[in-house]
Amino acid sequence: MTCPITTDVDRAAAILRNGGLVAFGTETVYGLGANVFDVRAVARVFEAKGRPTFDPLIVHLAEPADIMRVAAAFPPTARQLTERFWPGPLTLILPKLDTVPDLVTAGLHTVAVRVPNHRMARQLISLAGVPIAAPSANPFGEVSPTTADHVVQQLGDRIDCLLDGGPSRVGLESTVLDVSGEHPVLLRPGGVTQEEIESVVGRVERGTTPSGADEHGTPQRAPGLLSRHYAPRTRLAIQVEAARPSNPHTGLLLFRPDDRWEGYSVVEVLSEGGDLREAAANFYAAVRRLDACRLEQIVAVPFPEVGLGRALNDRLRRAATASGTRL
Ligand code: AMP
Ligand code: MG
Repeated sequence: MTCPITTDVDRAAAILRNGGLVAFGTETVYGLGANVFDVRAVARVFEAKGRPTFDPLIVHLAEPADIMRVAAAFPPTARQLTERFWPGPLTLILPKLDTVPDLVTAGLHTVAVRVPNHRMARQLISLAGVPIAAPSANPFGEVSPTTADHVVQQLGDRIDCLLDGGPSRVGLESTVLDVSGEHPVLLRPGGVTQEEIESVVGRVERGTTPSGADEHGTPQRAPGLLSRHYAPRTRLAIQVEAARPSNPHTGLLLFRPDDRWEGYSVVEVLSEGGDLREAAANFYAAVRRLDACRLEQIVAVPFPEVGLGRALNDRLRRAATASGTRL
């Protein structure tokens, strides 16, 4: 049985308050939310997604001031970044308060927080009256949802309510930046670009997403190293030049219109005008459409390695690695 789909924020907030799971639209992708302080509800999020418990969740806040409900410190660098980018697709890693359950942070001493730039999402969190832990509303490792319909298809029978917030405007997950140490470290490229962050805090280092510690404090494998992530079911290969395919049952994912598409059975162009923002907003839906075509393979041409192109290339690389066809 599929869950109720609604635009009634009061009703969805009441479900969250009572320990339920609510999927909701944000500007990045759809999230699967639970009350951060309700360990049983948070456990259901991991269960519904099939997400390993060593992969920590992002805590969503209604207002920047709510940061002190989950974080033990708010250093000046973090303050500068929130003033510039919140509400928005930037997640900050900060030291956590003991009251935040270990399940949320996978045993780490830090917590990931952000304020979404989406009116309905912020209303929902505000009415729920508690911070909301929310990973993307899809089974672990699969393509992220950017419309309510995507959530229904992937998790409709495993959640209590779906708040339809329209299509996600940014269409890519948030940027994850660790500001808990001496220097900011970029853990995941996303909706706020590295260039934008560096214009505020100077050069940032690139790091890999750490994952949680087990009960002995031993670090676990990072999600990005797992066999499937952000991945369609169809094999995906990255090719710098989209040469004519040997097998005609091949789809092509292009950033902009290109003349090298002969011989492909389906072509998805992400932005007619070559705009990375538009490409990001269309990305996951286009990957899904190609995935539904029963193709032998999807070929993707890499994006320019600037701005949102870095985040798009990151998602492509992980999807390609998942299917063992990274070229
Ligand atoms: P998702 O919610 O699926 O978009 O992914 C959340 C991302 O944030 C994952 O890459 C996590 O590993 C990362 N993350 C969440 N909490 C922390 C934390 N405390 N330290 C470092 N990374 C984190
Ligand atoms: Mg996800």
